[in-house]
Amino acid sequence: NQTRFRDTLLSIQIVPYGDREKLLISRDVTRFEKLEIMRRDFVANVSHELRTPLTVIGGFLETLLEENKVSGDMEKNALRLMFDQATRMRRLVEDLLTLSRLENAGNNLAEEKVDIVKLLQGLYQEAQSLSAGRHTISLDLASHAMLLGSEDELRSAFENLISNAVRYTPENGVISLNWTVENGKGLFYVQDSGIGIEPNHIPRLTERFYRVDRSRSRETGGTGLGLAIVKHVLNRHQASMEITSQPGAGSIFRMWFPESRVLPAENVTE
Ligand code: ADP
Repeated sequence: NQTRFRDTLLSIQIVPYGDREKLLISRDVTRFEKLEIMRRDFVANVSHELRTPLTVIGGFLETLLEENKVSGDMEKNALRLMFDQATRMRRLVEDLLTLSRLENAGNNLAEEKVDIVKLLQGLYQEAQSLSAGRHTISLDLASHAMLLGSEDELRSAFENLISNAVRYTPENGVISLNWTVENGKGLFYVQDSGIGIEPNHIPRLTERFYRVDRSRSRETGGTGLGLAIVKHVLNRHQASMEITSQPGAGSIFRMWFPESRVLPAENVTE
């Protein structure tokens, strides 16, 4: 931080600290805060502006492909490639917008009673269709507890972990989705028997665009923003993430929710 905070020094003081003294260094970081806000706004505006043209391009390419309007293998191939890239850009723009929304939302959080069981049953169906029979997927609901928070944000965080498990687990692998309460805390976790992650990468996975293997991420439709989105959602819910992984054997991504957000189940018929 030495270079980052150069020119920001306000004062250096020596102040009493019990029977000792401590050094108090004050810096003015207003300029950095302003730059950060400008960066966020810029990303949000660019993403927003790109959305419509990309939708139009993607839409027409899809029509041309579906209605068999072009003849010739080369032309069809070119169309397919253009459509795939337009889809990839659209996904990227959508993820950038989601991230901007989360960054700009401040402390505003929808405090809804989220029925996690129902939410996960829906996401389980989605996982099955994403996997298209290539994996064995199970859903284990050990608790019917609900969570206090934003349903949309939680869905997006859960979806990201689940789609990662599907995308980074080779054919015939096993994936489980789990919801339980441990010592009062809500715990959602996804376990996969996939490619796993080397320990040195784990602390950096939630950085924007950080990918262990860029080409694999691309091939499987990744944007490199999924776990950054997850991190923001969890922070906003005072929740934390724990990643354990063994390269070549699989990973577990756990999300812990504080006791204050865990609510008893409503209308449960066991
Ligand atoms: P991406 O769109 O690239 O998947 P994410 O932010 O979701 O971006 O994840 C960041 C990186 O973390 C991925 O590129 C991948 O290298 C690694 N990763 C995430 N989930 C898993 C998993 N379940 N197994 C193995 N690697 C994973």
